[in-house]
Amino acid sequence: MAESAGILRTWFSGLLDWVFPTSCQGCGEDTKDGIFLCEDCLAAVPSIHDPFCAQCSEVFPGRIEGPFECPNCRDQTFAFDFARSGVVRSNLAMELIHEFKYLRRIQHGRTLALLARRAFDDPRLARALKEKWPLIPVPLHRRRMGWRQFNQAEEIARPLGKMLGLPVISALKRIRPTPTQTRLSRSQRQKNLKGAFVVARSAKDWPGVILIDDVFTTGSTVHECARTLRAAGIQNVVVVTVMRG
Ligand SMILES: [Zn+2]
Ligand SMILES: [Zn+2]
Repeated sequence: MAESAGILRTWFSGLLDWVFPTSCQGCGEDTKDGIFLCEDCLAAVPSIHDPFCAQCSEVFPGRIEGPFECPNCRDQTFAFDFARSGVVRSNLAMELIHEFKYLRRIQHGRTLALLARRAFDDPRLARALKEKWPLIPVPLHRRRMGWRQFNQAEEIARPLGKMLGLPVISALKRIRPTPTQTRLSRSQRQKNLKGAFVVARSAKDWPGVILIDDVFTTGSTVHECARTLRAAGIQNVVVVTVMRG
């Protein structure tokens, strides 16, 4: 079953390449291998760089000596160890994510995975790579899934897992829909999300897991996911996203 789904997916992405030949999102040049950025434009997408917040990877302009507090994470205790994005906000990254999510360009998943992979340059993720911690996509409720027809986190996790040689396991399920969060304050978001997830399969055997999402904004969603995974007995939960929003 899983294998035939894989074959179908490969066939489908081949069909997409044929129907929509890939071109660079930045300059329009033809690209290959289903990546929507040419080498030059890919290199021009700015990564997370020092100094950045140890909890959420928000980059600070200029030089900072000694410990600093990020306005997002001040007074916050997250259930995950840390969250690391691949890239900072940039027009190109935002455009790709927007088309991916709202224009349902599922074929951007690979390009976004390539950007997320940069997070693994962070030495704090070396252990996860060595021990082959699974990637766990942040789940969507099936009602939202029905509208979008795919879960964006899963479409990033799958190619990312291939690139890194890590398993991808849909271990979390969203058991109730949560109204859109964008207009809520952080405490309202956290209340809104409480108990929204369950661990769908036994997770005790993993020393740690890597939660995958497209954008890290306030961290409320991944915090609730991490809380659920920890309650199921997982010791280490880290978060990797494509972009720090
Ligand atoms: Zn280009
Ligand atoms: Zn922070």
